Amino acid sequence: MTPESAGKLYLVPTPIGNLEDITLRALRVLKEASLVLCEDTRRAAILFQRHGINTPREAHHDFNEAQRTPHLIERLKSGEVIAQISEAGTPGISDPGFYLAREAIAAGILVEALPGACAAIVTLTGSGLPSDRFIFEGFLPAKKGRMTRLESLKDDPRTLVFYEAPHRIRRTIKDLLESLGDRRAAWGRELTKIHEEYRRGRLSELQVEIEAKAPRGEYTLVVEGKPKKSHVS
Ligand code: SAM
Repeated sequence: MTPESAGKLYLVPTPIGNLEDITLRALRVLKEASLVLCEDTRRAAILFQRHGINTPREAHHDFNEAQRTPHLIERLKSGEVIAQISEAGTPGISDPGFYLAREAIAAGILVEALPGACAAIVTLTGSGLPSDRFIFEGFLPAKKGRMTRLESLKDDPRTLVFYEAPHRIRRTIKDLLESLGDRRAAWGRELTKIHEEYRRGRLSELQVEIEAKAPRGEYTLVVEGKPKKSHVS
């Protein structure tokens, strides 16, 4: 049982580009919390200024979370309400969030995740590819284990969703084409921003396009699952 006086940890999604993409409840929680843990304090400052949030901020990221967490758990136990945000989108989705949530749950503290922006879901929804069943793969390993991972996905019928950095997007499309075949796919680039772009087509078509000009901005890739065999007699 959680004591009445215990605090609460909120995991609060923030926009992936457009600063209007934040819920009314997220804004209220960020205003009412006693502390907001931020993966990137400068990006948080822009968001806070836009929405008139004056809550104290603290840097909290992969490099200090193990060291800072025991102190934060003590503050939560003493009754504080703390919110965690990542650089963009949903905390814990290829971003910090999981570690503190796990430790807080283990310490019997209330943890609540708010709904909100997530690049994977936005891209999948707009991709035109089946969204009834999908696998979120995050970032493919850059080197070791990359081809093994792709091999393990080859026969799965569910739609695949990947994050990728612009300097690796060409190689990733090439590797996806080689290991999965010429499947239907889409990328969402700079979604919700001024230069938002969707490209939908076969992987071979996306490859031609990505080779034609220098990749810029943030990309999320969606690839159809293993196509069903057509029964042509
Ligand atoms: N936590 C974030 C979320 O919920 O979407 C993801 C953070 S992850 C470190 C960053 C990756 O998300 C980028 O490399 C890119 O693949 C994807 N991404 C973030 N913003 C995006 C956007 N506006 N358009 C397309 N993809 C985006």
